[in-house]
Amino acid sequence: TDVEELLLSRIRDVADYPEPGVMFKDITPLLADPAAFTALTDAFAEIAERTGATKIVGLEARGFILGAPVAVRAGLGFIPVRKAGKLPGATLSQAYDLEYGSAEIEVHAEDLTADDRVLVVDDVLATGGTAEASIRLVHRAGAAVAGVAVLMELSFLDGRPRLQAALDGAPLEAL
Ligand code: 5GP
Repeated sequence: TDVEELLLSRIRDVADYPEPGVMFKDITPLLADPAAFTALTDAFAEIAERTGATKIVGLEARGFILGAPVAVRAGLGFIPVRKAGKLPGATLSQAYDLEYGSAEIEVHAEDLTADDRVLVVDDVLATGGTAEASIRLVHRAGAAVAGVAVLMELSFLDGRPRLQAALDGAPLEAL
């Protein structure tokens, strides 16, 4: 579609970043283009409405930039999922494996309730580790997952099959 072409045209491939052999997808040109950023926000907001989401969860750090305007546009609250140690209140923590080592993300426990249906928003789905851990956090907080929405899915890294069990039928939407 026209929107897909516009979004794709505003993503820059950066070779050998952050390490040799990796082709990094840089979204800063998209953020700098108001037409593209608005089209992206509208597309995410449509997914939030279609899936019956009651809250937007954004994943540090680009999920904050993309998720916050979606929350405003859709009239929903925004909940940050942060790297461990950054949130001041009582948190739930979820560890997950990286290629080398592990990482940990957290959410404020009181930000989600059993009445919530959460749309998880991020820029890129790569291995799916971050999104999978986020879904676990949402479930452990007692809330339901309405879906996961990303700008880009790097399908050769097999994030989608990795997320399948955790999603339990909820949609993974890649624009
Ligand atoms: P995963 O956990 O799926 O392997 O990695 C996804 C996380 O890493 C996301 O939070 C995403 O922001 C970041 N990420 C991985 N690869 C890229 C990339 O090529 N471009 C951007 N912008 N983010 C990436």
